[in-house]
Amino acid sequence: MPPNVLGQLESAFTVHVLPTQESEAETMLRDVGPRIRGLATNAVQAPPVAVLDVLPNLEVIASSGIGTDALNADYAHGRGIVVANTPDVLSEDVADAGIMLMLAVSRQLLHADRNVRDGLWLKGLSLGHRVNNKRLGIVGLGRIGRAIARRAEAFDMVIAYHQRRADHELPYRYYDDVAALAADSDFLMVVVPGGPATENMIDRRVLDALGPQGVLINVGRGSTVDEPALVAALAEGRIRGAGLDVLADEPNVPEALCTMDQVVLAPHYASGTVETRLAMGQLVVDNLRAHFRGDPLLTPVT
Ligand code: NDP
Repeated sequence: MPPNVLGQLESAFTVHVLPTQESEAETMLRDVGPRIRGLATNAVQAPPVAVLDVLPNLEVIASSGIGTDALNADYAHGRGIVVANTPDVLSEDVADAGIMLMLAVSRQLLHADRNVRDGLWLKGLSLGHRVNNKRLGIVGLGRIGRAIARRAEAFDMVIAYHQRRADHELPYRYYDDVAALAADSDFLMVVVPGGPATENMIDRRVLDALGPQGVLINVGRGSTVDEPALVAALAEGRIRGAGLDVLADEPNVPEALCTMDQVVLAPHYASGTVETRLAMGQLVVDNLRAHFRGDPLLTPVT
């Protein structure tokens, strides 16, 4: 939980913090579970159904983050529990992180930094690749995807996108097939939600369409990329590089990725700035307050 959450919650509610130790958590849930009416959590470490099952009087889940793939929202809705997340407030930072990864891969920032620190200067460092004027394919032109597109316009990139439905209000070319978008892209930026509908949508077919000059950036969810297929494509030079803020089995990283200079990795921290985490935390508190005042949630998951 962001640091501004606990104090505010404690001033309004009786708060119980779930211990990380499993046996302590079980004891606590047995003692106070039936009295719990609200749950503050986050989009990555949300409690499983087994925990929700021992909270029979739960009315509301307020999650910090956007993803609903780990939230068991359908299950919660089925029990009449309302669920809130924190959209919009993090879009700009996640977009910044996507652009940062694209630049870091293209200009080999980590390799260059290591060279300077090791006293090697330019030794062994090949030339990077241009980002400006290149073609950017965005998979998921939602709130974050659009914030990425706005930034890419300033780099004079040619922007196109894939999602389930075309948005004819947008000035960008729409592809109904993600592989066709990849074939026409130098950079493929993935920012769709996780879950069964998008699982492994970036597979070998898409990576081969992206091709040996192509770069994959993922700031959405690790589950959308077929990771073994990605590792193979990178190892065999069938794509040029990758920038990954999210991985399939976090925090476990395929060993091969850690040895590749053409890959930049980040620990699912795209929304991790002080400013955004405080805004996300505030929205968690405000959603819980709204619910217990009898008002609708500010940002409900529907
Ligand atoms: P939005 O709901 O605004 O956008 C989601 C986009 O994905 C829409 O364009 C939607 O279009 C598209 N989409 C959804 N399902 C599919 C599908 N099955 N196939 C193709 N396209 C699909 O969400 P945000 O932009 O706010 O966030 C996107 C995701 O980013 C979050 O769900 C979360 O998983 C991830 N995220 C990652 C963070 C990080 O730290 N790395 C931080 C925050 C979010 P359509 O419905 O037309 O298909």
